[in-house]
Amino acid sequence: MALIVQKYGGTSVGNVERLKNVAKKVADQKKSGDQLVVVLSAMSGQTDSLVKLAHEITKEPVEREMDMLLSTGERVTIALLAIALQDMGIKAVSLTGRQAGIVTDSMHTKARIKNIAKENIKKYLDDDYVVVVAGFQGIDEKSNVTTLGRGGSDTTGVALAVALKADMCEIYTDVDGVYTTDPNVESKARRIDRISYEEMLEMASLGAKVLQTRSVEFAAKYRMPVVVKSTFKEGPGTWVVAEEPSMEKVVVSSVPYDKNQAKLTVVGVPDKPGIASAILGEIAKEEINVDMIIQNVGIGGLTDFSLTVPRTESAKAAKILKGSAAKIGAKDVQVDENIGKVSIVGVGMRSHSGVAAKMFQLLADAGINIEMISTSEIRVSCVILKDDVDRAVRILHAGFGLES
Ligand code: ASP
Ligand code: MG
Repeated sequence: MALIVQKYGGTSVGNVERLKNVAKKVADQKKSGDQLVVVLSAMSGQTDSLVKLAHEITKEPVEREMDMLLSTGERVTIALLAIALQDMGIKAVSLTGRQAGIVTDSMHTKARIKNIAKENIKKYLDDDYVVVVAGFQGIDEKSNVTTLGRGGSDTTGVALAVALKADMCEIYTDVDGVYTTDPNVESKARRIDRISYEEMLEMASLGAKVLQTRSVEFAAKYRMPVVVKSTFKEGPGTWVVAEEPSMEKVVVSSVPYDKNQAKLTVVGVPDKPGIASAILGEIAKEEINVDMIIQNVGIGGLTDFSLTVPRTESAKAAKILKGSAAKIGAKDVQVDENIGKVSIVGVGMRSHSGVAAKMFQLLADAGINIEMISTSEIRVSCVILKDDVDRAVRILHAGFGLES
């Protein structure tokens, strides 16, 4: 008997018909004798609609209340799935994040799970229930409702799998696995059979939307096998697992991209010690996710300092930077939302040389200008014009031999 955590995304539970389809899948699995914990997202579009409602009242709603609001979406789907399962004669119970014992820090709208008190879930599992848990939510130590950031149900799924020592975590979604790049941009993209945690982590943080980054961090840290599969059609999916020797042979395994970035430039910064820390310190305190950072060569004692952040945070980041700029005597803060980021990822880069150079050449040959570059051991990323992103993806996908 295995213990499996299954997570179903928003499109998989997007309406009553689909919820019933999920109930049937869950019931079949349950009948094969496994213990099952099912984590759900809200119906697709629901979380966005709730955000919109709040924004009809004010541009900057208080984040604690946003969490209260957004956490309702998942309560709807878990209750409906439990009802559907019960209607099929399956013992089932729905639990909110709090009832499932999920305790987070107090960073509203992007809280981190601190621990999971698993007694309640365990009790129901021992009693042969299918336990249906609301994804994306928890409570902090003062019992405030928190949410885990957009896409956070993935993290609920993997974290529960880890806490319960499940055999695996299955992520059911509307695509049949993880692809070498977005099939909507490059029709020759291929499904990947097996990918390492490390590569998946890079891909997720680079904008591949299949898995929330934090869910991959959890999986990697605790070596939890995760499989990404389609809810709607049978197939092997993509296994996200510890690195295997064969993975090294593939130099570049994927080409992720991200069009939801913004570049912020602090102009005319006095070039002296402590500047980077003065500029970035405040941003870090607000937990804004800074990706690339470039300090340009100073001329006449002044320098420019650029960084990229998710576009959703650019207004907040700009406000903070304007404050820091004033303090350190910098001239101005400019925001450029007309950028995108294209990357290549692969564990094979560790053992192959010239990979970055080849990427730059491919982009240069296509007349695509690179504005910023950053690298890790298994990744190279370039900031380019947003309008060039799709073309760059196709050129790199072909150039590194990823076509089917
Ligand atoms: N419903 C939440 C969102 O749309 C969480 C999730 O679906 O994972 O971000
Ligand atoms: Mg998702």
